[in-house]
Amino acid sequence: MKKGKCMVARTKVYLYSAAVFISATLCAAVPPAFGAGLSQAAHHSAGQKATAAQLAEPAAPNGGRSSRVLPAEDSARRGRVAIIIDDFGNGMRGTEEMFALPVKFTVAVMPFLPTSQKDAARAHEQGLDVLVHLPMEPRQGKPEWLGPGAVLTRMSDAEVRKSVEAALDNVPFAIGINNHMGSRVTGDERVMGIILAVCKERGLFFVDSHTNYRSVAGKMAQEMGLPPVENHIFLDDVHTSGHVAKQMRLVREKALNQKYCVTIGHVGIQGKETAAGIRSGIAELKDSVEFVGISELVKDQCQWNPGVTLP
Ligand SMILES: [Zn+2]
Repeated sequence: MKKGKCMVARTKVYLYSAAVFISATLCAAVPPAFGAGLSQAAHHSAGQKATAAQLAEPAAPNGGRSSRVLPAEDSARRGRVAIIIDDFGNGMRGTEEMFALPVKFTVAVMPFLPTSQKDAARAHEQGLDVLVHLPMEPRQGKPEWLGPGAVLTRMSDAEVRKSVEAALDNVPFAIGINNHMGSRVTGDERVMGIILAVCKERGLFFVDSHTNYRSVAGKMAQEMGLPPVENHIFLDDVHTSGHVAKQMRLVREKALNQKYCVTIGHVGIQGKETAAGIRSGIAELKDSVEFVGISELVKDQCQWNPGVTLP
């Protein structure tokens, strides 16, 4: 079908553009001490420490994938790592390699794309957490990089709500939302208020991908009684497997220092390289940290009991 091919070609172009843009933004805006720069924001939730007993709770059934459930003492002593992989939904490069990773991670799926539903269902079958990777307007860049169903600051309250609800309805098994791009929207209290309100109504949480240092998402989430969850480290701001493996060592440091770390990588043009870097990082880190889905981290660190009703 010509129309379908066109759609795929077009979406690949904007995902690529977005990847280049994000990469450029990170390179320009992120100082060498990336993790350190985010530590203050990370303290939003670091203040709410989980007890050893909570950490010892067994993980949810996960379809046989190892989440390395450990005895209470061991688990409490080790840092926990939640890897989120963004940009699923369009059959992007690295999709197979990511699904073959030997530990639990979280699958962030863009809505309304050719493999959105397939990727979400596959993740769920593998016992992995699913997030809606919601396209949100950036401060710079072209709207067409965002893809279908994007949330824009020029939308009315009703339009924002409709977009968020439609995206959630399009991606099955989602337990939360994280942002694709979104540096403008995450700084906008009106729009973030609506996104977070929809999350709250549906028993979901919002993970701030942290594309904007002036993001209001964490502060607002806390005010609304939602867990303030955010990305600490981008794994593939430079697209080589060596860099990703290096970032994984930063992840280990952060996880051991503050008990947990949320980190983001991407499928896409360099998705196979990112997957290779993550795989070698996992081999290196597996004895010192525990890899978990984002839902386990949020439940334990923020005492969050969402009661999400999955379809
Ligand atoms: Zn993205």
